[in-house]
Amino acid sequence: SVPLSFFGGIGGASKCGILVKGGNYLEALAKTETVIFDKTGTLTRGTFTVTAVHPESGFTREQLLEDAALAERYSDHPISLSLQAACTSSLDAGRVSGVEEIAGHGVLAQVDGRRVAVGNRRLMERQGVSAAPCELPGTIVYVAVDGAYAGHIVISDLPKEDAKAAIADLKANGVKKTVMLTGDTEAAAKAVAAELGVDEYHAELLPADKVEWMERLLASSGGKTAFVGDGINDAPVLTRADIGIAMGALGSDAAIEAADIVLMDDKPSKIATAMRISRKTLRIAH
Ligand code: ADP
Ligand code: MG
Repeated sequence: SVPLSFFGGIGGASKCGILVKGGNYLEALAKTETVIFDKTGTLTRGTFTVTAVHPESGFTREQLLEDAALAERYSDHPISLSLQAACTSSLDAGRVSGVEEIAGHGVLAQVDGRRVAVGNRRLMERQGVSAAPCELPGTIVYVAVDGAYAGHIVISDLPKEDAKAAIADLKANGVKKTVMLTGDTEAAAKAVAAELGVDEYHAELLPADKVEWMERLLASSGGKTAFVGDGINDAPVLTRADIGIAMGALGSDAAIEAADIVLMDDKPSKIATAMRISRKTLRIAH
């Protein structure tokens, strides 16, 4: 049976914008020693800004951006939204067909009857396109048209304002290890992990790799393990963690469904707040 004080704890948390789906999750939270984060949209804002456009010869900057934005027209991925926002021409749906989004890779689509691929190096390799290696920090989006490399677009995603303090606060609240899992590049992941003080990171992961890392971390960590994500490509990891925490505003419906705790305002600093509430509640309950 659930002690009565848990209802008080859940109520107190909800006043802080933290939705807890059951008293058992409050109890687990108080015993959490490992917190695993998704990067994009969770530790970072998830709103990318296009900072450079590098077309190959035969393309203008405007054309490259327009092809990419049109191909991404039906995607909700943060990368897609940034490309659409940066494109000044109207993105006529009639020009786009046969769209296929591949998790952890990017999108394929017919744009004006041409085959356009937009995504990371992995997508280019899969399409048999050789793209010039790009070592810039930030996230690189490669574009291919009809099987030929057409150029790349550089976008950057800044850490959330409270992300660094959130990591430090977790450490001050009994968390022994923080980990970041991301499908983004090694360079982008390294920069964010160093800036935020995350203990460990694993980059260039496909959704299935994230699940594998989750299993490994669950097996090797003492105490409880929490995963925090926005649910775009990470709902399977959310459900495997002892405590799945989803960002509510940015997150997908699937994430909110799969999660045990939902942070309504998407602030990672709310995790430590929830831990404090859980400990207070447990003290009252026992
Ligand atoms: P994260 O793990 O950082 O939240 P995702 O798993 O959603 O990121 O995506 C991993 C990588 O796959 C992205 O960094 C990007 O390179 C590529 N990608 C995924 N979806 C798209 C898309 N719609 N357009 C372009 N690239 C994408
Ligand atoms: Mg994500």
